[in-house]
Amino acid sequence: MPIYEYRCQACARVSSFFLKSINSELEPVCAHCQSKDMARRMSSFAMGKTVGSVHENFASGSEHRTPGYYSDPRNIGRNVESAFSKYGVEMPQTVRDNIDAARSGETPKGLDL
Ligand SMILES: [Zn+2]
Repeated sequence: MPIYEYRCQACARVSSFFLKSINSELEPVCAHCQSKDMARRMSSFAMGKTVGSVHENFASGSEHRTPGYYSDPRNIGRNVESAFSKYGVEMPQTVRDNIDAARSGETPKGLDL
């Protein structure tokens, strides 16, 4: 069951909503102030400079699925890389190898991208 997070435009607080079906319409109402002026919120892994533009895409669209960011092999492991550099830690070679392998098309089996 999908869970979506929306940020209230009126009070800026976040509310989570369960979606009973992938096809059902969701009309989010703020759990804190009952405002219906809600904007779809990205998951925490997507925090950063791009949140603003991505957020706009979500707000204007009606997709129930995220765009295919992670089905693009060039994007695989980007958040891992930035996490390592952020903390000034050298990336282990095994992690490096896994990312390179994934980018070259070796998508793990069983993943429905
Ligand atoms: Zn609110």
